[in-house]
Amino acid sequence: MSEFSMAAAASAGSSEILQRLIDTTRECVLIVDSDLRIASCNASATMVFGRPGIELEQRRLSEVIRDLDVHEAYRRAIGEHLSSDVRLELIGAERRTFDVHIAPLEIDGRPQAIGFFYDKTQIERLESVRQEFLSNISHELRTPLTSILAFVETLEDGALDDVENSRRFLGVIRRNAERMNSLIADILELSMIESGKVTIEKRPVRVAEMTAEIYTNLAAKANEFGVELVNLIPEDALVPADSIRLEQMLINLIDNAIKFNRRGGKVITSFEIAGSVYLIRVKDTGEGILPEHLGRIFERFYRVDRARSREIGGTGLGLAIVKHLGRLQGGEVSVASTLSEGTTFSIELPAA
Ligand code: ADP
Repeated sequence: MSEFSMAAAASAGSSEILQRLIDTTRECVLIVDSDLRIASCNASATMVFGRPGIELEQRRLSEVIRDLDVHEAYRRAIGEHLSSDVRLELIGAERRTFDVHIAPLEIDGRPQAIGFFYDKTQIERLESVRQEFLSNISHELRTPLTSILAFVETLEDGALDDVENSRRFLGVIRRNAERMNSLIADILELSMIESGKVTIEKRPVRVAEMTAEIYTNLAAKANEFGVELVNLIPEDALVPADSIRLEQMLINLIDNAIKFNRRGGKVITSFEIAGSVYLIRVKDTGEGILPEHLGRIFERFYRVDRARSREIGGTGLGLAIVKHLGRLQGGEVSVASTLSEGTTFSIELPAA
């Protein structure tokens, strides 16, 4: 029963009213008798603590929850009329944590105790993701900052007089400052996307033309890495997408395909219509990605080789942004890779 009406309450007994009340609660609720058996519970508690086909009522609390603190709290509530707050950790297929409030309860003269189990699993998971993100950001910002400070100090200590060295040191300072700049830009971009502040405007986009422009802008980089850029997307391919966001995705994927390629390698972009979806592929002939890394490269700050990525100017946020931008447009981004043959990223966008 999910609705509690005052009219119904008037004609019901205390236990029945209580049952209706706890049935409206989303938290798990367990009422325990003086012999420490479950007197009643709600559907949420049955889902969390029960097993299919077995009623929780009348079972011993010790069979249902194997936790001494919870037992002690129920015992104290019944025996000494004291409320307590305890923490419960359930270790099963999935680890779950609860803040539990247990209080004395007397119904129809029977001393009982009622426990409310507030599921903290999701909040704690989000909190740990937030902390990990903050610690990653601090670490990523500190690395270039340390380098900037060290070179400024060297210049202050007299290196300034040596013109050639000064120029070199200033170059390092500039590169590190640029790194910090792109890192902050990526962090802000991710935060805008995640807080829903990025709006999508879909229009038919000429992907071949867009790719050709990106190739022109990245030609110097491709040259530096000795990589050939090949565009196989048909001139007339039109994809309904947000052109700014699609361009951002392609720049990221093509830039990675150049950076993680080998000298003399190729980046090949292609296009395919598969039923009701459009597929834009960015394929490279680089080193490939091991299966154990493949599932994680879309995570924020995840890099197969942290030092190498940093050296070639990566923030570790590019693919996380690409994935989000794909989803914002109702699509998906996936990856397939064969070690020492190369990697293919596929942007899948709905036709309408
Ligand atoms: P980064 O700024 O390091 O490029 P990304 O989020 O764009 O960050 O990519 C995360 C990691 O995924 C990279 O550091 C690299 O290890 C791996 N990666 C991305 N694209 C490729 C690719 N085309 N070939 C091999 N590895 C890649």
